Amino acid sequence: MDKIEIATMKSSDINHVLGHIYDSVLENREGALADYIPELAKVEPDSFGMALATNNGRVYSIGDTETPFTIQSISKALNYCIALELIGRDAILARVGVEPSGDRFNAIEFDPRTLRPYNPMVNAGAITVAWILCNRLGNNAFDYILNRFSQAAGRQLVLDQNVYQSEFRTGHRNRAIGHLLLSAQAIEEPVDLALDVYFKQCSISVTAIDLAVMGATFANLGMNPITGKQVFDTTAVRNTLSVMFTCGMYDYSGNWAHDVGLPAKSGVGGGILGIVNRQLGIGTFSPRVDPNGNSVRGLASFKILSDEFGLHAFDPTNRGSGLVAHFFDH
Ligand code: GLU
Repeated sequence: MDKIEIATMKSSDINHVLGHIYDSVLENREGALADYIPELAKVEPDSFGMALATNNGRVYSIGDTETPFTIQSISKALNYCIALELIGRDAILARVGVEPSGDRFNAIEFDPRTLRPYNPMVNAGAITVAWILCNRLGNNAFDYILNRFSQAAGRQLVLDQNVYQSEFRTGHRNRAIGHLLLSAQAIEEPVDLALDVYFKQCSISVTAIDLAVMGATFANLGMNPITGKQVFDTTAVRNTLSVMFTCGMYDYSGNWAHDVGLPAKSGVGGGILGIVNRQLGIGTFSPRVDPNGNSVRGLASFKILSDEFGLHAFDPTNRGSGLVAHFFDH
């Protein structure tokens, strides 16, 4: 079909495209449930849902878009945004870089030039960010995070206790990373509190619609377009989207930027959150993941969505910022 701006499309046309994408991806049963966190292996493998939320507050959805799953690594992007706002860009950069690592998300390694984690989207960086939040907020850190995530989703979110317990019991590798960060003086005590916040942030329960609305909040310069509440600081959003664009999709981030061309973050729970700057948030959920940790159906859906709607950041049909359109089209 012709590439048209979503804002100018009729709802029935958008639903038609979503239906077509859903049908073409549904039969794909490749990939496997992440089972290194035992509780994640208990989800229904065939669930599949996709939701779009526009920056003027309209939501389109198809499939299992109200099925709860845990946010996992997608939490890293939101936490980074919150930490940027709380302590500022330079203070964060002194502790966590913004370079893609080219390695797995849970690699036990630092950037050899700085002896700091490569970026906030790998576990070492995310645990450092969790520590920064604990350092600033003390024992209230998790409640604060949950509240901010809830504001971004526009509804009260809750912790999935079973997944949290499962992560807490089996998170030896993350504990190793936390203690290595401590020994390298990349963080300070209390490392156990930071790890606990990290396990909890990953275990927040969301739906594909929640991810789409969170994405629309980012797309809308930090203001949730449904509640009208300013959730994130505008400058922090800019810096967060930059890191999501280069590092958000595990060790597939370069391919993703090339093929899909959107800032995004995925989690091993099967969710993907994508952002079309100033236009749209996209949330997908399908729990079978590929060897990189990205949802197989989610990835396939994003590729088609990006192509059919011309969403790639550098696609000539993507008009980008509404402000640019406002100033140059009239
Ligand atoms: N809680 C998971 C871990 O730290 C998150 C991994 C992910 O979603 O990439 O292993």
